[in-house]
Amino acid sequence: MDLKQTLTIGFDDTDSLKGMCTTFLAYKIVNELKKEDSEFLDYPKLIRFNPNIPWKTRGNGAISMSLRTKNPSKIKNKIKNLVEKYSDIKNGANPGLVFYQKETIPREFTEFSKLALWQLINRNYAKKFASKNNLDFFYLGNGQGLIGAIGAIGYHFDDYTLELLSYRKNSKFGKERKISTKSVIDMEKNTAPYTFNSFDAKKGRVLITPHGPDPVFYGIRGENIDSLLRATKILKSKEKLAGFMIFKSNQGTGDHLKNELNVNNLKAYASGKVTGIVSSKPKTIKGGHVLFSILSNSKEIPCAIYKPTGMTSIANNLIIGDKICIGGGVKKATKKYRRTLNVEFMEILTLKKILQETNPICNKCKKNMKSKGKNQDFQCIKCGLKSPKKEIRAMPRNIKKQLYIPKISAHRHLTRPKQRLGINNKDSKFDKSSSWFRVY
Ligand code: ATP
Repeated sequence: MDLKQTLTIGFDDTDSLKGMCTTFLAYKIVNELKKEDSEFLDYPKLIRFNPNIPWKTRGNGAISMSLRTKNPSKIKNKIKNLVEKYSDIKNGANPGLVFYQKETIPREFTEFSKLALWQLINRNYAKKFASKNNLDFFYLGNGQGLIGAIGAIGYHFDDYTLELLSYRKNSKFGKERKISTKSVIDMEKNTAPYTFNSFDAKKGRVLITPHGPDPVFYGIRGENIDSLLRATKILKSKEKLAGFMIFKSNQGTGDHLKNELNVNNLKAYASGKVTGIVSSKPKTIKGGHVLFSILSNSKEIPCAIYKPTGMTSIANNLIIGDKICIGGGVKKATKKYRRTLNVEFMEILTLKKILQETNPICNKCKKNMKSKGKNQDFQCIKCGLKSPKKEIRAMPRNIKKQLYIPKISAHRHLTRPKQRLGINNKDSKFDKSSSWFRVY
């Protein structure tokens, strides 16, 4: 008889900008749990929630993991101690830790998680949720971390990616990361499209190494375990690393922009999409950013395209009457600007025709005819064909009916990169061997 029980663990908000990283704590926890009689049921999950909430440290990531164990109490105590030990509370972390001890995750968790992906959730609501559902939970500070902790347990994947995060030895924390740029380029050449967003060829910039004092040395994002493991063998650095762990994630899925924003009640910090008709001429402001408005359901919504997205030239070519679908985050109003949608993608649905009166075109030669003078006919200079009046013609537009996304250097963790458009990774095979976790 199997006496093991299923235990799902969610935690968040253990780090600060001064150090630590919630994924590193996950790595430490897995390292401890590997010594116990526990069997992992899936990869640890790194779930990115609403990237437009103001108090995130970096990418608003939370962690969950599921395992089977004979001794859930012992495991819970161990994890609680590790969360207490590794959380950077003195620098503002507000950790939340939640345990769920049944096999099937209830629908309420999934609903909570869906909401956290695009709305702003009140932390008291998270505390009430935990009490109402009789959850075994724990928090420090103001408990903000409970939102990510509950959300990470409830997250349902329609599509996923993986990220291999490698960690530095303690002695290297805060020091410059040195990695061979050539090896990153080689790695990308050898593993793309099964890895993504590793190198920005336009700017010549390595994208896998973070810049803060956190313990991560690099993170390789991709579609499958084999490509990620192969990538680690191609990358070259003199630094001896501590180990790595592979996470299953919603990064690169564009998940936060799937919901329709309510234009009658556009809430600050919400993420989502809205379809409307361009209602004001795009205007470039100081810094090169472009502002314009769209009309949706009779509501005018101010939109901003920031210069670093590389989409300002597209925005500048919009005209009043174009129909577009915009995804992005709602910025709160300032003294100068109303609540504005900060654009993260733009899909042009219909382009308004620009009609202009022009000289007629010769039906035979397909050339513009020339006017023979005031109040006179037009004539083709090649074949002599005549026509009495000007024609109304649609002028070419410099933008197309298509999806436009920011350039790679302006991608957020959740942005769906070009190479993932149309991809739906659903394969739920879990590699039970320990290839996804290593301590060197
Ligand atoms: P890192 O990416 O380095 O792990 P972070 O960017 O995830 O850091 P946190 O320190 O975890 O930043 O802070 C994010 C906080 O916001 C957490 O406490 C999390 O519970 C909370 N949170 C997540 N989603 C929402 C939401 N939709 N509404 C309100 N709070 C949220």
